[in-house]
Amino acid sequence: MTDLTFADFGLAQPIAEALARAKFEKPTAIQAQAIKPQLEGRDILGLAQTGTGKTAAFALPILHHILAMPGRAAPGTARALILAPTRELAVQILDEFRRFAGGARVSTCLVLGGVSRNVQIRNLGRGVDVLVATPGRLLDLVDDRKVRLDEVRFVVLDEADRMLDMGFVQPVRRIVSMLHPRRQSAMFSATMPSEVSGLAGSFLNNPVRVEVAPQSTVVTKIEQTAELLDGTAKRARLAELMGGTGVERAIVFARTKRGADRVAQNLEKDGIKAEAIHGNKAQNARQRALNNFRHGTVKVLVATDIAARGIDVPGITHVINYDLPDEPENYVHRIGRTARNGADGIAITLCAPDEVKKMRAVEKITGERLLAGGIPDGESKPRGNRRGGGGGKPGGGAAKQGRPNRRRRGPSRANAA
Ligand code: AMP
Repeated sequence: MTDLTFADFGLAQPIAEALARAKFEKPTAIQAQAIKPQLEGRDILGLAQTGTGKTAAFALPILHHILAMPGRAAPGTARALILAPTRELAVQILDEFRRFAGGARVSTCLVLGGVSRNVQIRNLGRGVDVLVATPGRLLDLVDDRKVRLDEVRFVVLDEADRMLDMGFVQPVRRIVSMLHPRRQSAMFSATMPSEVSGLAGSFLNNPVRVEVAPQSTVVTKIEQTAELLDGTAKRARLAELMGGTGVERAIVFARTKRGADRVAQNLEKDGIKAEAIHGNKAQNARQRALNNFRHGTVKVLVATDIAARGIDVPGITHVINYDLPDEPENYVHRIGRTARNGADGIAITLCAPDEVKKMRAVEKITGERLLAGGIPDGESKPRGNRRGGGGGKPGGGAAKQGRPNRRRRGPSRANAA
């Protein structure tokens, strides 16, 4: 299994050539498990998060099947449908399809909210091979009879857990009910709460289950630390961290859209180039912020959980949790932004006393004791706590050391702190 190469899959020539051009040499773990069954027509239930190569794991077999289909997609229909929870993720999926279609004639269309419908309607009118969509806008266009979904033979629900978190259960179920009854389906999710497995049960037909990391565990090679400090001290600490050496590209997570804007503005005031990205910004403003970040014009991107999902920018050295996430599982998604493609990364959580409970919920999920001691008594104002050694004795006496608690899961790297 480990010696598997892309050549072993016997993918159509244009795809094989595109893979060579992209310098993809070996399939990732999820690709090694998921591509062959899909080439054989099986449904897939994939437990994998962004960064594992899951997009190519579904894009390559779908492209292979589409290249084998005769003729063209009928006007107003699509042959493959990929549903994604966020606009950024949808854009990245489409890019990946285009990249691997290589020189072959594969028509694609992106359907998402926040941008004009006209181009989308025109493309759909011609009929498309691969349609990548977010659920809301797609249903609008279906209801307006701009596209029919009954010719969809290949469907993927990507980041299903996030899709359900965002309230897309009913839209997704409606969309699924419209697809061709004899279709090949895949569903990918980073976590498998009962709602997701319920959807999988009704949506997938005897799926092959593939999994690359145990549920809710974090990727390796991320050095995680947590610091306990007053909410009012966070701004100065963040500026200090971001001004440190070794910070090349950082994502800072804020809990709310307004919070994200404020953190970005404060960073700018403190002399650090930063931009915020969240759902209140127009699509082109979000894309511009993302491009500036990707090209290094700004080194800090401040994001909400939803906006950050699916962002795949290489070379993110630091993830900072300025606010603890409401959903502990988002911690795993957040820190997964760094340490991509074998690089290592640093994740630092700034935890105010009133967020300690959320921190504990995160620790339960990751199985890592990141913040030692119990809830602080309010008298001490430590910047960080040493590791609680797994047990984390309440009031564990390390609080005054002023050193962040540190869990190292890979090669060491100079911490900018
Ligand atoms: P994903 O998990 O689909 O977001 O992919 C993460 C990143 O890994 C993307 O930039 C992909 O283009 C890249 N990637 C996917 N598969 C491979 C592979 N087999 N070899 C090298 N890079 C890959």
